[in-house]
Amino acid sequence: MKDNRISIDCRRRIPVNNRVPIEDHLGRPLKDLRISVIDKCNLRCTYCMPKEIFGNDYAFLPEEELLSFNEIVQLAEAFAQLGVEKIRITGGEPLLRKDLDKLISRLYEIPGIADIALTTNAILLPKRAHKLKEAGLQRVNISLDAIEDEVFKQINGRAVGTLPVLKGIEAAKAAGLQVKINMVAKKGMNESQIIPMAKYFKDKDIILRYIEFMDVGNHNGWDLDNVVSKKQIVSKINEELPLESATENYYGEVASRFRYKDGGGEVGVISSVTDSFCSTCTRIRLSADGKLYTCLFASQGFDIKEKIRNGLEGEQLTDELASLWGRRKDRYSDERMEQKNTNRKKIEMSYIGG
Ligand code: SAM
Ligand code: SF4
Ligand code: SF4
Repeated sequence: MKDNRISIDCRRRIPVNNRVPIEDHLGRPLKDLRISVIDKCNLRCTYCMPKEIFGNDYAFLPEEELLSFNEIVQLAEAFAQLGVEKIRITGGEPLLRKDLDKLISRLYEIPGIADIALTTNAILLPKRAHKLKEAGLQRVNISLDAIEDEVFKQINGRAVGTLPVLKGIEAAKAAGLQVKINMVAKKGMNESQIIPMAKYFKDKDIILRYIEFMDVGNHNGWDLDNVVSKKQIVSKINEELPLESATENYYGEVASRFRYKDGGGEVGVISSVTDSFCSTCTRIRLSADGKLYTCLFASQGFDIKEKIRNGLEGEQLTDELASLWGRRKDRYSDERMEQKNTNRKKIEMSYIGG
């Protein structure tokens, strides 16, 4: 096992190989890389991949368009040299990608990468959790939007009950993975579940995070009226289960944190819509077909796959990535709050992975 895991001087942010971390046009450092490994999914959540659009004839990416593990590792190594410390694997449903543990064990060996996490719907976790943990995975964020079977079945579009997800959560805990739960809260969909979810995960050493419904993609029928705001979520919980504010864990943390006053743990709220956090956004996203996105709400990606398949490597590759980050001016959610024109074609959430 390598011992250079935390060999990053956090105060000065100088990576192991002494390359100075880069900043974007608005002074934000590059710290997190989100890698989508597949665009397919075994669910059809109404707010993400509505089955009317993502039906049997939907054209998912052909195999040869997906980045290979070698290509993903090559890019992750280059990003680590530019200051990236954290990697999150996502999808579609990332556990549908064959041999994911093999990719994780290779990412784990990259000097400077201090944290590897996975976002998943957990259905395939009972079979995979142990191997993933052995490969170097540290944390999983598991998506579960309701604790009541009937509500969850309606949301996921495939009539899957909560049991497979709860078994996935159990398997992740048993394997020694840190577990957080993500619940997208949307009016008319699962407001009724805000309190039951809080009660279910309270006192279980599992942090539940509520996510405001976002206007990602072009097909989920987003409307500001359907957003359950951070304020509404917190006050609803607080009425029954008193909360107090907790401080930020680290620079750029996306969730506002709240502790139960009775010591029963904490909850978080990711308020991209009503209380945006673009000024500390340190994330770059790599799609399964090798496009880089400097914002979740981007219209266009930067085709890095084409460049590496044409031989771009080494210092030229890191220079290209540094230049892309250096040009970055994205602050979509801030602009949405400022009521600027945010009416543009966007990439799909299932394609870029959240
Ligand atoms: N399939 C995996 C899962 O569901 O965890 C990973 C990919 S999924 C796109 C990543 C996260 O994005 C999930 O937690 C999902 O709930 C969230 N998400 C998808 N569409 C969203 C939307 N419109 N607003 C807010 N969150 C969304
Ligand atoms: Fe699939 Fe995740 Fe999207 Fe649900 S949220 S459809 S599980 S990619
Ligand atoms: Fe980052 Fe774009 Fe989200 Fe702002 S809107 S926090 S820049 S991903």
